[in-house]
Amino acid sequence: MSMEEHKIFDIVNERYILSQALLKAMAGIARNTEPEIVLQAICDSITSSKHIKLAWMAMGELSPETIHPEYIVGPAADYIDQFNMQHQSTTEQATFNQSIRIWNTITANIHQSDKAYASGLRSVISLPVGQKNGMLAGIIMLYSDKPAYFEQVGTSFFSAFIHLANSSLDQCTLLSELTHLASHDLLTGILNRRGIQECMERELSRSIRNKQAFSIVLFDVDRFKLVNDLLGHKEGDSVLKAVTDAIEQIMRIEDYFGRWGGEEFICVMPESNHKNAMQIADRMRQHITETHIQSASGTLNVTASFGVASYPEDGDNIDKLIASADAALYQAKRTGRDKVISANAVQQGIYNIGNELDTALREDRIIPAYQKIIDLQTGKKVGEETLARLITPNGHLIQAEHFIDAAHQLQLLHKVDRNIILQSFSHCVSSLQSGNGHMNHFINISADLLRHRELVDDMLTTAKKHCQNCDEFSEINRPMVIEITERELLTDINTALELLTPFIDFGFKLALDDFGSGYSSYKYLADLPINFIKIDGNLIKRIREPKIHAIVQGIQDTANQMKITTLAEYIENEETESILKDIGIDWGQGYFYGKPEVHYH
Ligand code: GH3
Ligand code: MG
Ligand code: MG
Repeated sequence: MSMEEHKIFDIVNERYILSQALLKAMAGIARNTEPEIVLQAICDSITSSKHIKLAWMAMGELSPETIHPEYIVGPAADYIDQFNMQHQSTTEQATFNQSIRIWNTITANIHQSDKAYASGLRSVISLPVGQKNGMLAGIIMLYSDKPAYFEQVGTSFFSAFIHLANSSLDQCTLLSELTHLASHDLLTGILNRRGIQECMERELSRSIRNKQAFSIVLFDVDRFKLVNDLLGHKEGDSVLKAVTDAIEQIMRIEDYFGRWGGEEFICVMPESNHKNAMQIADRMRQHITETHIQSASGTLNVTASFGVASYPEDGDNIDKLIASADAALYQAKRTGRDKVISANAVQQGIYNIGNELDTALREDRIIPAYQKIIDLQTGKKVGEETLARLITPNGHLIQAEHFIDAAHQLQLLHKVDRNIILQSFSHCVSSLQSGNGHMNHFINISADLLRHRELVDDMLTTAKKHCQNCDEFSEINRPMVIEITERELLTDINTALELLTPFIDFGFKLALDDFGSGYSSYKYLADLPINFIKIDGNLIKRIREPKIHAIVQGIQDTANQMKITTLAEYIENEETESILKDIGIDWGQGYFYGKPEVHYH
């Protein structure tokens, strides 16, 4: 090496140029979120010194066997064509190896026998970036046309570049962590509502562009409140995690999975048509059912209900698709849970019924039917339950169960209720006027109606007018009984009580309907001023079974202690009646005494 080669170059100027390059790099990478781009920007700026002839960088696994320059800049970039780290025992390889081992900067002069020498390169520096073996680790190699260039300028300059790269990479990591946090659910680790929403938007655009189908599957854990109530919130959380794990085993690699809210989840299935999605959803349903969840209090099994909606047939935007899936899910809940229901099927049925119902409401074709309630001990009639019926234009009578679901989903239920209740008031008055004496008029009120305060007020005003005319009963002896079900008042007890208070204050009584079918029955009993319990018809139908008999007996004993009147539905024969009588059930209704009757005027 000649003296001339050593001397050289204006070190002061060179340091100035490098510090400018450093400043430029700082400004340039401040906003970058891609680690590769950060390292590339450093390579770009550093080669603004005319003595740095080549810079390259690589990220990922850093070993001489696999290393491969990912980004190359500088006038000597062509040299990389001949570069081969594996098969050469070169100065660069030694530099690289040592710097990776100690994870520190190493410089060396290029030897005459090195291929790099022929390309005019005289010295090299190897700069490891990031954490050794870290997620974001990389290397930058710089080559100069001057021997000992890096030592002369001072390696601290190059370390400064590395500091800059490191802090940028830290920022990248932090940013990606933040992005992950913003779109993922903490409890389950899957996408959160926002994450899955974005995912659906992306899928929708893609499907529109490619004229393809895609499907969403919305599901909700059945009776989850029970898990929380019985085992506590913490166990509830682990059930949610177990359900998430179960679904992840079934979903395909291309599907997305997110938590839509509480115990509601959404799967997005790209390129899946309805039939396809229904099949996968059913596999998911089955897998949840078969999953044994280990909990502190033993093995637990849960089920879930599913609604499936597909683009384009069930909606051409995300809101519509979700609404369709939700309607299907609701239907799955109503018809027994642990089911997959297609939005497609639901929609068609509902809108037809909805139209019909709407017209019927306008044409006063929603009418009450009354079913007798009998005192089991005396056999005397003590009351009636008012039920809704729809008469078709050609005079057919349609039972409530055929239109109540549609009414609920199309938000018409409050209209149906109001209509029936007002007619029931008039019926109560005329029944008294015709000398029937005191009767209990049971009416069904949906949460939908209770939420319409103006209708509630209006109804109370009407009731007061009727009662003034009658003037027969005091507040404690009003003839109206409101039936509420756990299913209808899915909200918490406090809300239910608040909504019911205007009626209770006026002197209406409360009956807890379908008692024994839900899980919160006793909670409602404890926290609401209940006067009547209507025992679930499914229990009455099976009253001959010893266990069911014991359950009903238990309900009766509780009611006795609480001075609550019990009422059994679905009494269809004498045998059932006599069993219930023996148990001590107070009142009963069912086909044995009479079907609901419409009073045609
Ligand atoms: P259904 O079959 O009709 O869906 O009955 P359900 O009891 O599952 O339905 P509901 O929506 O009434 O109850 C859901 C419960 O889930 C109420 C809420 O307190 C609980 N929940 C929501 N989010 C969480 C959560 O992150 N952890 C736990 N442990 N419980 C949650
Ligand atoms: Mg649920
Ligand atoms: Mg729910």
